[in-house]
Amino acid sequence: MEKTIQRGYAKINLHLDITGIMENGYHSVNTVMHSLSLCDTVVLTRRADSEYTVKCDVSAVPVGNDNLAVRAALLYKQAVSCACGADIYIEKRIPMAAGLAGGSADAAAVLRGMNELCGDPLSEEELCAIGSRLGADVPFCVCVSAAYATGKGDLLHPFPSMPDCTVVVACGGEGVSTPEAYGMLDRLYGGFAVGCGYVPRDMSALRESAERGDVISLAKSMYNIFEEPVLSVRPVAAGLRSILLENGAIGAMMSGSGPSVFGIFTDEKSALRAAEAIKQTGVTPHVCKPIS
Ligand code: ATP
Repeated sequence: MEKTIQRGYAKINLHLDITGIMENGYHSVNTVMHSLSLCDTVVLTRRADSEYTVKCDVSAVPVGNDNLAVRAALLYKQAVSCACGADIYIEKRIPMAAGLAGGSADAAAVLRGMNELCGDPLSEEELCAIGSRLGADVPFCVCVSAAYATGKGDLLHPFPSMPDCTVVVACGGEGVSTPEAYGMLDRLYGGFAVGCGYVPRDMSALRESAERGDVISLAKSMYNIFEEPVLSVRPVAAGLRSILLENGAIGAMMSGSGPSVFGIFTDEKSALRAAEAIKQTGVTPHVCKPIS
């Protein structure tokens, strides 16, 4: 095979909470992630030599070895001695540094694509293991579209897919860097130290809603521990969330550590009306579907 076209799907967090601090100093999380039809397209073309190049249609995306897609290709080459080189082209549609795992989605697309170019020598589990060295969200992006995740977000457990609905995603204004966002939480919750008294939220209502296919109850059971502290200092994102709710979203929340927000709609007309209202603020809305 000379060329393969892969999709890297955006994820949203339907639940995101902290359960403590691990021995390595990372926060351990309880999270439910779901993929959306909003995606980057990643084209891999086999090269005669063993080099990797990356190009992207959005100039802000790094195109050197700090691009997660290139790092994924280099790790793949280490794992599979016969791996070929490739020219990687990314058509970027997932907003960057937005809490939607755009870079992780591209890395996952490259791992799947490289494996296809090389005749599928590695299993999905092996691709996930490579992915977890690149970032907590990469294993999810490699192999599933709905999961409950623990550890740093890379230990995946089954979770039912979202019922059919329309999701409007909006990303506007400045974000808070991930370390800064964790710092905010540490200050609020005593560093999540043993004895600090923080009790993670129960997520059984979310799981049961998904199992029953009850999208209204699911939308009402969502939780993100980052939302309150981050939106309190990011009025643009907070305003976009309000617009989603004012226009008929049955639930709206920030994804990851933001600044993206998403609204869940049972009725497509309301979703389109919300998207139009978002557009009026100068922000590009993404009207999409959960994928399973
Ligand atoms: P997550 O939700 O996994 O925390 P994110 O959606 O907040 O991720 P990304 O879009 O992955 O953030 O981008 C984070 C940073 O990663 C960017 O600021 C960018 O410099 C770098 N980066 C490296 N490779 C890519 C890529 N292929 N696409 C986007 N950003 C990339």
